[in-house]
Amino acid sequence: MRIAHHHLELDTGSGISLNDITPQLRGLVARSGIANGTLIVTSRHTTTALTINENETRLLEDVRDFFSRLVPADAKYLHNDIHLRDCPPDEPENAHAHIVAMLLGSSEVVPVVDGELDLGTWQSVMLVELDGPRTRTVNVQLMGI
Ligand code: ZN
Repeated sequence: MRIAHHHLELDTGSGISLNDITPQLRGLVARSGIANGTLIVTSRHTTTALTINENETRLLEDVRDFFSRLVPADAKYLHNDIHLRDCPPDEPENAHAHIVAMLLGSSEVVPVVDGELDLGTWQSVMLVELDGPRTRTVNVQLMGI
């Protein structure tokens, strides 16, 4: 049994952006020497999420529009009363980003089979930025033989 751990860093786009990290994950699997096992990705942030879906430009625009309508950034949120919280004064008003992150979840698991990520043809692993642009870190853990 072998275990490998990596921090994947990426710069995200403004507002909501979906960032395909599948090529980087495939590279880590290839260099790990692990042929069969499990890849776990977790976000290290409270205003990002991880999802597996199709990386298609118009769909990603639909997703941005949908979440913007579902949880509008300019609605009233207690978290955005920065002056009532114990936090730095430059804290962003980002309650909407936290809420969408909770809906989507912060981790994904992908089987590694014969040295490859066992994803469907149209599946990509994407970091969903909900309060960008920022530099973000994704945990990647590979376990297997
Ligand atoms: Zn916040």
